[in-house]
Amino acid sequence: MITDMRIGHGYDVHRLVEGRDLILGGVNIPHEKGLLGHSDADVLTHAVMDALLGARAMGDIGKHFPDTDAEWKGADSLKLAERVRDIVCTDGWRIGNMDVTVLAQAPKLAPHIMSMRQNLARVFKIDLDRISIKATTEEKLGFTGEKLGMATHAVVLLLKDL
Ligand code: MG
Repeated sequence: MITDMRIGHGYDVHRLVEGRDLILGGVNIPHEKGLLGHSDADVLTHAVMDALLGARAMGDIGKHFPDTDAEWKGADSLKLAERVRDIVCTDGWRIGNMDVTVLAQAPKLAPHIMSMRQNLARVFKIDLDRISIKATTEEKLGFTGEKLGMATHAVVLLLKDL
């Protein structure tokens, strides 16, 4: 069997501020600050969605869910991710795997990684072992190192049997 493959990359940044919940991969993580944004500002899920859309050359989440649209204010990014899955997994395409790296100085994310992976596995309807989430600091350098914000890189592979 011949399988067609498409790779996608996503990158996102959100500012850390007081008075907001910190939501990453749909997990509410106890922290003194949270990410600022029109939606729940789930920087991890946003990068994954952009990678999925990128693999199909379907633009980005700003195109599909404009932040000028009141419908998406405070939106649960996992709900948006379900919609992205439905947009991307058409015409025979399925998600092969994804590898995600969160850049954050604090808090420690290791205790929450499994919950995030389980959330994405449920939303995208794929096995847990097809979802990798890693976290790293940037050694106190730059905006993540100075705890001004968090960033995420994501790559995904889409597959289609021909
Ligand atoms: Mg974003």
